[in-house]
Amino acid sequence: MINARLEEVINKQINAELYSAYLYLSMSAYFESVNLPGFANWMKVQFEEEQFHGLKFFNYLISRGGRVKLDTIEVPKFEWKNAIEVFEETLEHEKHVTALLNNIAEVAEEEKDRATRNLMIWFIDEQVEEEGNAEKIINELKMIGGEGHGMLMLDREFATRTFVPPTGA
Ligand code: MG
Repeated sequence: MINARLEEVINKQINAELYSAYLYLSMSAYFESVNLPGFANWMKVQFEEEQFHGLKFFNYLISRGGRVKLDTIEVPKFEWKNAIEVFEETLEHEKHVTALLNNIAEVAEEEKDRATRNLMIWFIDEQVEEEGNAEKIINELKMIGGEGHGMLMLDREFATRTFVPPTGA
């Protein structure tokens, strides 16, 4: 059975992952409102990934004999200035999530819980990709100045993104 300290931080992380899902769904709605359906699709895939993360922690806590305690999900932001601002906030948010995950890994070390430590390796590796994706898109948006033909090309590219459940999950 998992110890109480880890049970608490994992419950908080379930909430953080579901808030991430909610935030990206709100960003998806924003992109729909400014006629960028490909960007909206990209964010909808992000929403699915975050739900998957939340569920992965949910299932893990139960498999370790822990008690899942769901909490209120914070209301996400609704409006943004432009696509660059959306992705800059995405990057900041993912850095915050990385810090939360690093903290869980530290608690797992302190509590000598190797199974949780191993789970956190998967999540922390995943964060490298999450932060990298956002950085890459910010750079591309800056290159094209966030408008014109370049936006149309990016929107078409983002329309093809699909959710693929990670292997070994
Ligand atoms: Mg996540």
